[in-house]
Amino acid sequence: MEVGSGSSSKRQNSGQRRCHCDLPAMITQAGTDKNPGRRFYGCPRYKLGNECKYFCWFDEEEGTKWQKRALIEARDEIREKNRVIEQLKKTISQLRQRVTVNEKTKLFGSLKNSMFKLWYSMCDLVFLLSLMYEYG
Ligand SMILES: [Zn+2]
Repeated sequence: MEVGSGSSSKRQNSGQRRCHCDLPAMITQAGTDKNPGRRFYGCPRYKLGNECKYFCWFDEEEGTKWQKRALIEARDEIREKNRVIEQLKKTISQLRQRVTVNEKTKLFGSLKNSMFKLWYSMCDLVFLLSLMYEYG
């Protein structure tokens, strides 16, 4: 049986901005206390250390709009998580049936992968929700 709704969360990357090195600017989330989770454009060479210091907020509005977006993203995260959980349930019910040792090993492997996926996105979610709590 297929697991429902196919709404995939798209990461928008419209409006090609370029940094001072004329490279396509990269969208990153701010991790500062003042603007946690807010997005900005930066130089893609940022991690290499020789960036051009290009900086521009992804959404210029101060205040609530970007926070709203973070909330919407949190909602999408939850939907995605529900999908992964459905998958987990399916795998577990397969494990309950009579399966060979080989199949069991395979199923446990996919179970472990889904669990990790869930764990990591849960960390993102906790971060987003804490934003909502503090600033919303
Ligand atoms: Zn640059």
